[in-house]
Amino acid sequence: MMDRQYRVIPASLLFGEHAVKTLPAKLTQTERICQSGLVGMGGAGFPMWKKLSFGKGCHVVIANAAECEPLLEHNVARIESNPQEILSGLTIAMHEIGAERGIIAIKAKHEREIATLRSALSDAHIGNSHFDISPGIEIKMLEDRYPAGDERAIVRDVLGVLLDPNELPSKAGAVVSNVETLMRLHRAVVNREVVETKDLTVAGNIEGSGYDDNVSLVLYDVPIEISVGEVLDALHIQVASDAQLLMGGPYMGGAISAKSSIEATSGGIIIAGPEIRDRGPMGIIVCACGASEDRLKAIVASKGASLCGIEMCKNVCRLPNDRLKCRNPGVCPGQAQAVLALKKKGAQSILISHCTDCTNTVMQIAPKIGMRVHHVTDAYMIAGREHLIRSFRKTTRISQA
Ligand code: SF4
Repeated sequence: MMDRQYRVIPASLLFGEHAVKTLPAKLTQTERICQSGLVGMGGAGFPMWKKLSFGKGCHVVIANAAECEPLLEHNVARIESNPQEILSGLTIAMHEIGAERGIIAIKAKHEREIATLRSALSDAHIGNSHFDISPGIEIKMLEDRYPAGDERAIVRDVLGVLLDPNELPSKAGAVVSNVETLMRLHRAVVNREVVETKDLTVAGNIEGSGYDDNVSLVLYDVPIEISVGEVLDALHIQVASDAQLLMGGPYMGGAISAKSSIEATSGGIIIAGPEIRDRGPMGIIVCACGASEDRLKAIVASKGASLCGIEMCKNVCRLPNDRLKCRNPGVCPGQAQAVLALKKKGAQSILISHCTDCTNTVMQIAPKIGMRVHHVTDAYMIAGREHLIRSFRKTTRISQA
């Protein structure tokens, strides 16, 4: 997949200047992180001070710049516009846990952003930066596949360690944090800022905004707790009465309404048209890296199909807390068994939410036995004028040179 176009719009242009609250100067670095209210902004929402406290003794901090959900661009945009703040935040995280190594994990396709990072690192190394940036930071390239940004996938692809599904990156001596979180870590510690804003991507059917649907709108510093409707109104986006609104990315996001609030973990607002109809009967294959079983069932109903069977990707395992995890994220264990089981139950079509590799496998089997294939991301990819998640050429191994 090629880089998607995005346009950056500072939220101050839409909502006016946001008065930034600051912390008392006497606070220590750790106290600033704690009292800023900073949480992991990539989706988990775990308090940053706790993550760094638990990570003490780890040897590396990995900045997750994978941005692997389609249509979302706000992390990549920040790399282009605020590289020093991200690298400074990464350095602060390294200091906090006592690590001398930092890694930015980014897809090789983001050539412009990689060049920006290299330039910021080289400026820092020759003393040409007023930011405190560690000389122990390096860049590692990721393949362009979903879910490249899964924490365990990043640890595997960057450090060569495949963690068990119930293990955290700390087991491999790593702390993983997304790039916006690291930028705000810099702002909390160096500028003493309380976290009250969030970056967002608005994408899909964005008619009224003045931009075409093939562009993602990246909004910087949107006040947390304003409503989705306020964001869409400020952009003059007209939402059709039969539109679907999703918070997050097309794979993992959840349905919202205009009344939903922007939170510290919000990533995207995606506006799509109705689901593609299908006469069914339809079977679903549940996967750990995509939509939940409930969301898949809701989509089957929206398509007007009857549900005739549910199968699981063979890589899925259920943790004691009932969460589904993949044994080896993004590496297909084979899908023939699940597809044939659904066929046996009478499925004429199939709905999947699979990673790139498993989608390829399903596409090698299901159409050949007369089954129509739908992917959970379809309506959103159509809205954002992107290619559907179907079959892809094998990605070539990435050179780290
Ligand atoms: S192997 Fe299965 S569970 Fe794992 S990422 Fe792919 S589709 Fe999801």
